[in-house]
Amino acid sequence: MNKETQATQKIYTTRSLNMRKIKAIGYDMDHTLAVYHKNAFEDLAFRKTIEKFVAAGYPKEFMDFAFDPNFAQRGLLVDKVHGNILKVDAHKYVKAAFHGHKKLSKEERRQKYNNISYKAQDFVSVDTFFALSEVQIFVEIVDFMSKNPGRIDKSFAEIYDELRLFIDTAHRDGSIKDVVLSNIEKYIYKDPHLSETLVRQLDAGKKIFLLTNSGFEYTNQVMNYLLAGADDFYENWQDYFEIVIVSSRKPLFFSGKQPFFRIHTENKGLLSPLKDGFQKGHVYCGGNAASLQDFTGLRGDEILYVGDHIYGDIMTSKDLFNWRTCLIVDELEEEMTRVAAQDHLKAKIKMAISEKEDLEDAMQTKKSELARHRRAIAKAKKKQDLASLEKLKASVETIEQEHMAVEQRLRRLGKDIKSLVSQREMAIHPSWGELMRAGLERSRFADQVRDYACIYMTRASNFRHYSQNKLFMTASDTLPHEK
Ligand SMILES: [Mg+2]
Repeated sequence: MNKETQATQKIYTTRSLNMRKIKAIGYDMDHTLAVYHKNAFEDLAFRKTIEKFVAAGYPKEFMDFAFDPNFAQRGLLVDKVHGNILKVDAHKYVKAAFHGHKKLSKEERRQKYNNISYKAQDFVSVDTFFALSEVQIFVEIVDFMSKNPGRIDKSFAEIYDELRLFIDTAHRDGSIKDVVLSNIEKYIYKDPHLSETLVRQLDAGKKIFLLTNSGFEYTNQVMNYLLAGADDFYENWQDYFEIVIVSSRKPLFFSGKQPFFRIHTENKGLLSPLKDGFQKGHVYCGGNAASLQDFTGLRGDEILYVGDHIYGDIMTSKDLFNWRTCLIVDELEEEMTRVAAQDHLKAKIKMAISEKEDLEDAMQTKKSELARHRRAIAKAKKKQDLASLEKLKASVETIEQEHMAVEQRLRRLGKDIKSLVSQREMAIHPSWGELMRAGLERSRFADQVRDYACIYMTRASNFRHYSQNKLFMTASDTLPHEK
């Protein structure tokens, strides 16, 4: 890696990964090789889904809802029963919650969630293809229901289930994909370094395969847009890939046993079962990870899979087949820039926390001093030592005043820290703060990344900055008691 490589272009390691041992690198397509212009794309998904709600008889006012790119965030949970959106930390503590656009107070959060033990799986994890628009549509409808009681005679859970259905339909019936393909530059960013990155991996002797849930037509057009003509030798996009698998139905690809079919793309897309192994230049659909390994002779830990979906791409492939994993977190690019811009606040927070610790020590000293004096007073009273008693009482008064002063400073400092933390969070993300943090703790999403993604980065093309045989090591794998 070049020393000049910017932080947003680096690869981050959570578990050591020796690329020398990796024989095949698999890529997801959507949001991995194909980087979407998030706002335009989510706005489109938002509008197409709202249209389905209105067509199904929901109020026409829904058409006035507008997508807000700054509202939702990846890794949030939906409480379908109460109609709330939650951000929880790694210890399942709800750190922020919204009902519609109304933020729940600390007391409301405590009553509803934090004084009972709940399991995160009681809630729906928002990690679909259109996570941001999905969360925001739900928020808008809950808001509408609060402002227009009686207009929609359905439970939050029913609404949410319909939302999932409409999003899936808009995705499958072409409502969204047709628009994307008709104006592809508007919706998909053409990464100028993608071809160079893949060629580097091929040069290092890695086999590359594509494993996407998108259908062939869409995949073909998107990959063509991304790679056709980008390299003199690899003229067609399929030239880069040893195996191409479309309509893979991940996570079922990892958990199920569906067979592979070859798609005869030259013959109206007719299907035939795969019998003798993959052939370069052919296109396959369906399939499962066990058969993929059998046909190729690859072991799970010889495959590195690169995807953006924490569950469908990363958790299932690692859990069930021990594939090595790389998560694409493209929103980190913007967030890291915002975080860096708030460095001064972080320094202030650190200083304030250290001052608070000193004051807490000072307070403890004053408390002990007071207790010691009070014991001496009791003793003097017993002995009727009036001279000492007077002196002790005067000292107690002074110590009490000092104690009070420290207490006041501590209280002020506590408020200052809170306000600095929230000021920093607001600057980074107005509703939810940092993606991988919940307050000062790690977020649940950060924990999933740490547990399942061996490495993570903002873009697939960040690979180009590294040797393809590099040993990625974790910066630190120490427990709190270890030095
Ligand atoms: Mg994807």
